[in-house]
Parts: sequence; structure tokens; C-alpha cells
Amino acid sequence: MYKITLIPGDGTGPEITEATTRVLEATGVPFEWDIQNAGEDVYNQEGNPLPERVITSIKKNKVAIKGPVTTPVGTGFRSVNVTLRQILDLYSCVRPCKTYKGAKTRYDNIDLVIFRENTEDLYAGIEYQKDSEGAKAVIDLIAKLSGRAVRQDSGISIKPISVFGTERIVRAAFDYARKNKRRKVTSVHKANIMKFSDGLFLEVSREVAKNYPDIEFEDKIVDNMCMQLVQKPELYDILVLPNLYGDIVSDLAAGLIGGLGLAPGANIGGEYAVFEATHGSAPKYKGLNKVNPLAMILSGVMMLRHLGEMEAAEKLDSAVASIIREGRDVTYDMKPSPDDPTAATTSGMADAIIAKMAI
Ligand code: NAD
Repeated sequence: MYKITLIPGDGTGPEITEATTRVLEATGVPFEWDIQNAGEDVYNQEGNPLPERVITSIKKNKVAIKGPVTTPVGTGFRSVNVTLRQILDLYSCVRPCKTYKGAKTRYDNIDLVIFRENTEDLYAGIEYQKDSEGAKAVIDLIAKLSGRAVRQDSGISIKPISVFGTERIVRAAFDYARKNKRRKVTSVHKANIMKFSDGLFLEVSREVAKNYPDIEFEDKIVDNMCMQLVQKPELYDILVLPNLYGDIVSDLAAGLIGGLGLAPGANIGGEYAVFEATHGSAPKYKGLNKVNPLAMILSGVMMLRHLGEMEAAEKLDSAVASIIREGRDVTYDMKPSPDDPTAATTSGMADAIIAKMAI
């Protein structure tokens, strides 16, 4: 019996979580779900969107699966997702993007895995609000150190990138490449402009790559990378990126394989792992039993592999592949037109996957 922390999230999170737990249970692997709520509703009730008991549960169980959690834009509480990654030191965000036959996409040959650094960069949460004491002090310090005048009415976000943080994410990408017999790692950066942060990311990537002579290494500037991914995605294999570019390029890659509804993810550190879809809480669809549960279900497949349940993972993955190939029991986003009256519901798609596994 695996005891797993289950965070249903908010918005459409609880609906896709329910679909996911049902298909995971139908694989025959025994789970005990330690249900922990986090997010907007918990914040409204308790004044804290991520109570300590959620962290304690993950620390105890080591593995969690989570639905998306809403983050208010600009004001309100800090992102639960970012906080979890920082507190648990989940430094690798692993996002496979592979085309399933039958998925509505412009490409049929994509098989990318994105390694996004999860703890540093502009996501470090070191920010100074416009007109705050902190912002004024930072602006003064910059003037003193560099002679450069930052406008007084600026808000400031700091972008730290360290040798330690870069080394371990680049190693994680190469180790994965070796273990999974992949051919190439591409380090993505903007080192031509940010010489001391992205420049360091590139330099450390090159150093780490020397330890893996069996795997091809190259680097790409992030803007060029985006164009290349749209024009010739088949040339790429594993991408390793600092936090912000990793976030953006993951969504681009999700678009290449048929949309966010199909893009799973895992946040993995030395001790703990939290599995979650790439997409957010899609709040406008909340309660409609409409959105695609596959990204979270495929995150469940990643969790099964992490637990060593390879047979169950393959069984579920191939049931998902069949459902996509057949194109009948899929949600609106995977139909030729989004208002297709034959679109499956969230729970209906889960039922179809369960039925397929039973054959
Ligand atoms: P989103 O991913 O929630 O939705 C963007 C659009 O993508 C939706 O309007 C919908 O058209 C489509 N989409 C997303 N998930 C889908 C699914 N499962 N099936 C079908 N279509 C789907 O992005 P957003 O609107 O920018 O963010 C909403 C909230 O989610 C924000 O508060 C954001 O901070 C949060 N968020 C959370 C996470 C997380 O929990 N890890 C990740 C990203 C965003």
C-alpha cells in the first residue's frame, strides 16, 4: 500500500484529481490517499493557503500528487506551487512532451523532455514593491555599486542563479538522458545579455556536460530556441533551462503536442517528489466536468514509474494512448471543434480509460 499525499487544488483541480485517483486505483496498485487541501479556499478560511500540515504530510509520505492551485495575480498570497517547490527543495521540474497518435496537433513526431530549474532565478521570490523601503535601498545600492540610475518608481525582482543550483539541474538532465537512452541535452539561456546569471548557467552546463561524453551537448539562446521548437522540434531531445524560461518553453512545448490538457509534470528533489500537470486551475471551467484530466493522469503515470510500478505505468499509458487514438471518449479540447457535442466529460474520459485497462 502506497500512502500518497493528495492535494486536490482549486478551480478545476478537484474534478481532474477525482478522475486521476480513480484511474490510478484501477491499475490495481494499492493507494491510500492522505488528502490535504491547499489554495484559495484554505486561504479564505485560515489566512494561509499552504498550512504546515500539508508540508508535514508530504515530508512523511515522500510522494504527493496535486491538482492545480490558483495564484492571485499581482496581489494576495504568494504562489502555493512555488512555495512548495522551495520548502521541499524540489529542484527539478520534469516535463515530458510527446505526441500521441490521434492528438490534434501540427506535429506527429515530438518527444521532448524539459528539465526546468525550480528553485532560483526570477522565481526566487526576492522582490521589492515600488516605493517600499526595500526598493529604495536596492536602488540606492545599485547607484552606489554601478553608478547606474534605476528609476525611483520601479518595482524590483532579483534573479539569482547559482553554481550549486545549476549543477544539480544539469546533472539531473544528463542522468535522465543516460538512464533513458536519450541522445542530446540542450542548455537554454540568454547568456549574451545576462552575462552573470545566464552566463553562469551556460558555463556550468558546459562543465557538467564534460562528465557525460556519451551524450551530445549543445546550447541555444532562448529566443532562437522558441523559433527552432516551432520550426523543427524533431531536432531536440532533452532541454535544460533556468526557472522562468523553463516555465515559458514548457507551455510552448505543450502547445506542440496538442495543448496543456496533455502535458504532465513532476517536481523532484533529493528526498521528495510532487507530481502535477503543467497547466493551471482553469477557473472559468470550474464545476463543469469539462476539462481534460489527461495531464494529471499522465502525471500519475510518471508517479507510478517513480514508485517503480512500471507495469501499471505502461498499462495506464497505453490505455491513454488508445483513447487518444480512437478520438471518441476525449474532452472538447481534443475534438476537431471545441463545441463538438460528442465531447466526453472529465469523469467520462476517466471511465473510458478504466474500461480500456479492464480489456
Ligand atoms: P491555465 O493553465 O489554468 O488555463 C489556461 C487555458 O488553458 C484555459 O483557459 C484552458 O483553455 C486551457 N486549459 C488549461 N488546463 C486545461 C485542461 N485540463 N483541459 C483543457 N483545457 C485546459 O492557466 P491560467 O489561466 O494562466 O492560470 C489559472 C490559474 O492557475 C492561475 O491562478 C495560475 O497562477 C494557476 N496556475 C497554477 C499552476 C499549478 O498549480 N501548478 C500552474 C499554472 C498556473
